[in-house]
Amino acid sequence: MAADGAAASAARNVCFTMHGIGVSGGIAIGHAHLFLGMSTEVDHYQIPSHEVSREQRRFDRAVKEVREELKGLAESVRHSAASELAPFVNVHLMLLEDAAFSEAPREIIAEEKCNAEWALRTQLDELTAQFGDIQDEYLRERETDVRQVAERILTALAGSKRLLAMRPTREDADMILVARDLSPADVILFREHPFAAFVTDMGGATSHTAIIARSLAIPAIVALHHSRTLIREDELIIVDGTQGVVIVNPDRAVLAEYRLRQNQARLEREKLKRLKSAPAATLDGTPVHLYANIELPSDLDAVKAAGAAGIGLFRSEFLFMNRRELPDEDEQYEAYRSVVEGMKGRPVTIRTLDIGADKALDGGEGSAENPALGLRAIRYCLAEPRLFNTQLRAILRASRHGKAAILIPMLSSWAELNQAAAAVERAKEELKAEGEKFDPFVPVGGMIEIPAAAIALPMFVRKLDFLSIGTNDLIQYTLAIDRSDDAVAHLYDPLHPAVLSLIAGVIRTAQQAEKPAAVCGEMAGDVALTRLLLGMGLRHFSMHPASLLPVKQRVLTTSLPDIAPLVARILKADDPEKLVTLVEKLNA
Ligand code: PEP
Ligand code: MG
Repeated sequence: MAADGAAASAARNVCFTMHGIGVSGGIAIGHAHLFLGMSTEVDHYQIPSHEVSREQRRFDRAVKEVREELKGLAESVRHSAASELAPFVNVHLMLLEDAAFSEAPREIIAEEKCNAEWALRTQLDELTAQFGDIQDEYLRERETDVRQVAERILTALAGSKRLLAMRPTREDADMILVARDLSPADVILFREHPFAAFVTDMGGATSHTAIIARSLAIPAIVALHHSRTLIREDELIIVDGTQGVVIVNPDRAVLAEYRLRQNQARLEREKLKRLKSAPAATLDGTPVHLYANIELPSDLDAVKAAGAAGIGLFRSEFLFMNRRELPDEDEQYEAYRSVVEGMKGRPVTIRTLDIGADKALDGGEGSAENPALGLRAIRYCLAEPRLFNTQLRAILRASRHGKAAILIPMLSSWAELNQAAAAVERAKEELKAEGEKFDPFVPVGGMIEIPAAAIALPMFVRKLDFLSIGTNDLIQYTLAIDRSDDAVAHLYDPLHPAVLSLIAGVIRTAQQAEKPAAVCGEMAGDVALTRLLLGMGLRHFSMHPASLLPVKQRVLTTSLPDIAPLVARILKADDPEKLVTLVEKLNA
């Protein structure tokens, strides 16, 4: 949506608002930090001859600034838990000192009489073209480093204060990141950098980028379209993630109002903490299992703070992102073990690698023109049997330290399920032959997130120990809506009768087969849908930890016999407006 105050960009300190899609609720107040990616267009302009040396000095200053940044970063990682990053920082420092970076762009400025950004871009294109011809895999992989160094220099040239990869500082806590787009891999780095919020010009409501923002419990707005052009570095902004509104340069009255709201929300959150150890059950005494979704082992603190009964979805692919080498079996085993042990006997469901679509491995190529329909998740793993085997072995080894389960994402065919099950058996046989211990009864479940699997469920349910409904993808594939494309975000509808009917069918089939079924998509953490899902028979919910206590509060105030007639009417409703009214009534 366009900015209401588009003209405001010229006159500074003018208050204006922008509207987008709020994907993570709450209010943040802070200073804008513009995030530049290499995808950002670089300005190209000519400079007169007498300005060449001034432009070269500008370039030198940027290189010097990056050098200082990297040295500071090298120093800080050396003494931190992230010491394994030190070699990467050193590679960046070496690249920066190479004439290809420190000299060549200066020559281009002189020869072409162009601005420093353009000279750097030209040099980068030249360098990356050469990478295509390199046979040596190690050297080829250095292309990412070259890009990252160029990106740092570009940011320094733009006068931005710092990049994502920088050491966190105290001030980050009041900084709001303004970006054209952010990948899930970018956002996962926010754990190290406590930004107050982020806003982007692109993105959809259930993209993985949005999901991680929710799991970090920081306000976020996507699809603002012009924030990168209209908002300037350091401007004071308010982000209202619940309403999807950004207020730039608010006046004192507006600021005071939002500070008040921020405090009220904080008090609400404090109050909810009292529910942490209350058993989750409806008013009529039906127990409900509230589990957490995690991306990395470091999420465990939030899981414990929310009092989750287990982990219903460990998105293991995040262990594989933002790095050049994939984690080997031992590294994965340690990660899974730390989570399984940390949960002290409570169940931990580890989803096998769901890579592809909007979650790419570093340097990985996208699959075909429609990556969401391509070689993603279990399809990718079956095409890479060694990688799959490594992961299965690591999960199985971790299973002896507690209660682990394996979850297979994106099942669509019988053959896939059989191959996946055979791969699990093969990994077990290998471990047995090697004398490694594991839980021989580790449950294997399937994600139901493709309509084909939901419709032909009896075929799958026989072979699976449990089901987990991935509503994010189930909606994407049922309604043919790319979940990361803001142009179709308005069509993304969890209350679409087709979606409700599929979910109700899965829950019913699972009950008949006496197999547990959970919902682990975003619907599970949406309090507005808790009663509906309970009324449909759902007893296992898995969500990001920040949603768990609000959902628990809703469970505790729900009487299943009372809601049953209304839920039955909702499931039969064929008028979308009436359906929405009925859901509102259910929540009243
Ligand atoms: C889902 O699709 O609902 C789900 C939980 O998996 P992801 O969001 O990681 O695709
Ligand atoms: Mg999914």
